[in-house]
Amino acid sequence: MKICHIATEISPIAKVGGLSDVTLGLARALIQKKQDVFLILPHYACLKTEDLSSIERDPTPLKVLFNKNNYTVSIFKAMLYEVPIYFLEAASPEPFFDREKIYGYKDDIDRFAFFSLAAIELLKERFSDCDIIHLHDWQTALVAPLKALLYPKTLKAKTLFTLHNLNYQGQTTDRLLAKVHLSPLSPKIKEGFLDPGKNKHRINLLKAAFYFSDSITTVSPKYAEEIQGTKDGKGLDPILRHFKGKLKGILNGIDYEIWNPQTDSALHSHFSYQNLENKLHCKKSLQLELNMPTKAHVPLVACVCRLVPQKGLRLIKKAIMTTLKLKGQFILFGSSPIPKIQADFDELSETLKEHKDVKFVFDSYNEPLAHRIYAGSDMIICPSIFEPCGLTQIIALRYGTVPIVRKVGGLANTVFDIEQDDIPFKDTNGFTFIPATCEAMKTSLTRAFKLYHRHFDEWQKLIKRGMQMNFSWQDSSNEYLKLYHKVLMDKSSLTWLTESCRIKDVVND
Ligand code: ADP
Repeated sequence: MKICHIATEISPIAKVGGLSDVTLGLARALIQKKQDVFLILPHYACLKTEDLSSIERDPTPLKVLFNKNNYTVSIFKAMLYEVPIYFLEAASPEPFFDREKIYGYKDDIDRFAFFSLAAIELLKERFSDCDIIHLHDWQTALVAPLKALLYPKTLKAKTLFTLHNLNYQGQTTDRLLAKVHLSPLSPKIKEGFLDPGKNKHRINLLKAAFYFSDSITTVSPKYAEEIQGTKDGKGLDPILRHFKGKLKGILNGIDYEIWNPQTDSALHSHFSYQNLENKLHCKKSLQLELNMPTKAHVPLVACVCRLVPQKGLRLIKKAIMTTLKLKGQFILFGSSPIPKIQADFDELSETLKEHKDVKFVFDSYNEPLAHRIYAGSDMIICPSIFEPCGLTQIIALRYGTVPIVRKVGGLANTVFDIEQDDIPFKDTNGFTFIPATCEAMKTSLTRAFKLYHRHFDEWQKLIKRGMQMNFSWQDSSNEYLKLYHKVLMDKSSLTWLTESCRIKDVVND
């Protein structure tokens, strides 16, 4: 099967969050299953290109008409390990991705709308035999209506849209539609784009992807359930309920070759569940690296995340103070894209600067250090307000680091409390709490400290149970494959889009 992922991140060359781990891990797992997989990505100036090989510039650029301007789009092909990637960038009249960061610009909607249009043109020109077009998040959401309305015949592929986070919806004015040749539209078709808010000139790219994709997935079964309710649906729950027949939660995996404590080149020592001694060495070298006291028998708690409200910032701060009170050590690793939040954490770090047992590492991206933190810590805390899947708790389990999490979204599908009585004890792997309160978080953290201090043998067994669980892409990629086959067979999807919906005379058709 020929599968094209269109995305804006892939680890480690263009990483902001978990999306990048998913595109890499899923593509590799599908390739190992003998599928013909490739990706299309923007050609960011900030790509970390060290891991790319066989980089070639395609001699024939694409021509794309966007916002009434004729763009010449250069195509670079490269291999990231065994994954082929096509990178697109406007060579003229002006580039879109020649910036320091991947996201965070006023014209982000235009940048990714341009990319979506260029990607669909590339598919139409070169890959009309593609079977599945797999899209990720609002940035590439527009590809679904572009394919359905501009090229339903030329491109026989089915589209599958994966929602990684409902918080980011790609809302903008309906002027965008004309820029990408989706105007005028019949009222019935335009309804698929309209934002559910009051302003009738606002469109919502996520909503459009839900309407115009053959299938929708999200990154955990629990999140798939949560987003259909008013509390977590962020205004799109009625649409998601309407499309529940084509919505499925498939739990993310992690790449077990990249995340492997037995072989990880970022680590000073290697370990496995049969030999945990070297985990202590990892702890010591981490403490030395971060200039912390090398206490061997004191719990070292880590929190690895983007500092955004979703991650439970108040509870993270409380976890730091509770850990210090319990005489543990704490590492906060990550930074905030929101200046006010970053300033707040800078202030906390300043207040605690004399405290050697807490370390703030405000580095937005340092992959090797992330690996050493997972390996050297005893516990990881994820007190998220909502969490579509969450990868840090899964990586932590693989590295023998016990997760303490709020039981929401994918955290609820992956972490099972040692006192949870609705599942066998052998399947428990951490500590959970439900209310988003400091009290509930503190109770779980204290329970973890107690087990560590009073029953270290039980603690070790808990670590081993977690390490033996399998959250690789093996099963989840099979689920995606099954779904790809199902949508390919399904003759009834998008039947509401009749021939008359097609937009005639589009550029380059
Ligand atoms: P989200 O996608 O909401 O950011 P996830 O838990 O799904 O959260 O994925 C986070 C990914 O980003 C994990 O791979 C984690 O290791 C990584 N990560 C977070 N902060 C950093 C950092 N400062 N340096 C390197 N990797 C990081």
